[in-house]
Amino acid sequence: MSNDAIRLDSVTRRYGSGGTSVTALDHVSLAIPRGTFTAVMGPSGSGKSTLLQCAAGLDRPTSGSVTVGDTELTGLSETALTLLRRERIGFVFQAFNLLPSLTAEQNVSLPLRLAGRRPKKARVREVLRQVGLGDRARAPTSELSGGQQQRVALARAMITRPEVLFGDEPTGALDSRTGREVLTLLRGMVDRDGRTIVMVTHDPVAASYADRVVLLVDGRVDGELLGASAQDIAARLSGLEAAPC
Ligand code: ADP
Repeated sequence: MSNDAIRLDSVTRRYGSGGTSVTALDHVSLAIPRGTFTAVMGPSGSGKSTLLQCAAGLDRPTSGSVTVGDTELTGLSETALTLLRRERIGFVFQAFNLLPSLTAEQNVSLPLRLAGRRPKKARVREVLRQVGLGDRARAPTSELSGGQQQRVALARAMITRPEVLFGDEPTGALDSRTGREVLTLLRGMVDRDGRTIVMVTHDPVAASYADRVVLLVDGRVDGELLGASAQDIAARLSGLEAAPC
C-alpha cells in the first residue's frame, strides 16, 4: 500500500474556456503522507478550495491525476467517486452542516445509515467520547454550543474511519479558545491514532498545529514550511500578500 494518503500529480483545473478561462490550479504536484497534518494556505483566489475539492474527489481536474491510497480517481464513474468519498474520506466545514433537529448521536450515525450500514451504538458513543461529548449524545444538536457542534461534525466525519479528513476552515466560525480546542483534537487524532488531516485555513495560529504548511500562490505551490510557529507562518504570508501580482 502507498505511504501517501493522497497524491496529486501535475493537477491543473481550469474554469471556463477561451479568453475568459481561469486557471485555478496550475500543474500542482503534492504528496500527503499518511499520519500527517497538513495546512494549505495562500492569498484569496490562490486555489486552496479548488485543491481541496480536487484532492477529495468533489471536483475533477482538467488534467493531471489524483490518487487516494492506491486508487487513481481519473477513470472513476460518478457512482464510484461518491462511494469513495462516503467510505474513505471525511469532511468538516466552517459551517457545521449538522441537522439541528437530530441528536448528536443521530447526526454522527448518518454517514453509516447513508452507506446502508447499521450504526453500532457503542461505536457512535466511542467516537463522541473521543471528541469530549460522551455525555451529550442525546442532546439535540441545536442546543449545543458552536464548539460542541463542530465536535459533533468531527465525530460524524470520523465515524467511517476515513483515510483522510479534509477541513475547509474548520475553526473559521469559532472563537479563538474554542478553535484551539478543536485544533488540539485534530492534532491528537494525528498523533494518537495516526490519522491524516488536510486543512485549508487563513489563520496562522490554526496552521501552526499542522506538521506542514503548503503555500499556494496563483494556483501553484510556492513553497512549504515544516513545524513552523504561528509567527513564522504569519511572516511568510505577509510576504506573499505584499508581493506584486
Ligand atoms: P481560494 O480558495 O484560495 O480563495 P479558489 O480555489 O476558490 O481560491 O479559486 C481559485 C480561482 O478560481 C479564483 O480565481 C476563482 O475566482 C476561480 N474559481 C473558483 N471556482 C470557480 C468557478 N466555479 N467558476 C469560475 N471560476 C472559479
